[in-house]
Amino acid sequence: MKKLDNASRRKFIKNVSIGASALLLSPALSKLALANPAKRLGIALVGLGGYAGGQLAPALQKTKNCYLAGIVTGTPSKAVTWAKKYNIPQGNIYNYQNFDDIAKNPAIDIVYVVLPVSMHKEYTIRAASAGKHVICEKPMALNAAECREMIAACKKANRLLSIGYRLHFEPHTQEVMRLGQKQVFGKVTRVETGNGFTYNGDPNAWRLKKALGGGGGLMDMGIYAIQGARYTLGQEPIAVKATQEKTRPELFKDVDETVYWELKFPGGQKVTGKSSYNHDWGYLRAQAEKGSFELQPAYGYDGLDGKINGKPMQIPNIVQQAAQMDDFANCVNLKKQSRVPGEEGLKDMKVIDAIYRSLNTGKWEQIG
Ligand code: NAD
Repeated sequence: MKKLDNASRRKFIKNVSIGASALLLSPALSKLALANPAKRLGIALVGLGGYAGGQLAPALQKTKNCYLAGIVTGTPSKAVTWAKKYNIPQGNIYNYQNFDDIAKNPAIDIVYVVLPVSMHKEYTIRAASAGKHVICEKPMALNAAECREMIAACKKANRLLSIGYRLHFEPHTQEVMRLGQKQVFGKVTRVETGNGFTYNGDPNAWRLKKALGGGGGLMDMGIYAIQGARYTLGQEPIAVKATQEKTRPELFKDVDETVYWELKFPGGQKVTGKSSYNHDWGYLRAQAEKGSFELQPAYGYDGLDGKINGKPMQIPNIVQQAAQMDDFANCVNLKKQSRVPGEEGLKDMKVIDAIYRSLNTGKWEQIG
């Protein structure tokens, strides 16, 4: 090996020690160092339940523009497990009482609200007031009035708000948007769509309590079918008529089980939808003047599939949540509105509010 003079030796030792300390950085930080450091934003997940633990945290191991920097939980044992599993520093762990201290933490840029629906408004507003940009899970809130308050609070705090509509970043869904909105096969004349699953979980879960979930299958699953019709047509519905059925009233005493609706669009298309906590549905079918296209599964995150004029779409699946969160981090960096802002959540809630009104009156109800 070539002999080093003293100056070169000092430089060599300095470089080696910088390299060694870089290796000691947490995986998140070393990824940060390898990617573009200016662009990798810290996300804190609020509510470490099924979706945060099963989907969002794993997806955050695959994101390029953001990483899992912090957590907010009311369960001390979860704080320990998550800190260990995801290398989260103690200083980035909050509970529901000290959550507002997150304002002082520059490592957290984005707060992701993954709580029961009744808590979405409070935590979105608290996060924005703490100076953080916000992603809030669907359905955005208990009703349209709450959505408006959330949008106003984020605007006032000059923070971006996005809803967890992962499918807008999913390629099969994007293809359906293109085919429908660009009228590739002429005008779409009919959309039929449904989403649901057979609920066999905890009878005391928040999903079965109106005060916490806002409703049942319609709020949780039907929202996808409403979105599906809206993004296939690229139009907003103006009225709705709905009916419901309950075959397990003892389980769904407080919330809707299965709901059927018809939407009136300005273009006069025939649009029907349904949602359920008692049927395994997940499809979207569109009939256009000169062709047809469909997705099934249409709304999940375990892989979508579809056909165009009866032939397979052959589009690869992606990690939807990683694409969704990377896009929002990019929007924050560029200070631009997400393609799924609070206003998009509000549009769906206006439809859902009208569906619940129609279930009460038995009549067509205006939307908005
Ligand atoms: P979950 O019940 O598994 O988790 C909810 C979390 O909130 C738990 O960690 C729980 O401890 C916490 N929590 C705090 N206060 C609570 C209270 N008073 N009552 C009950 N729980 C409380 O629910 P989830 O399936 O993770 O759903 C959370 C949110 O994510 C909901 O808005 C849901 O619609 C949404 N979600 C979205 C998708 C999607 O694909 N985008 C999928 C699943 C869930």
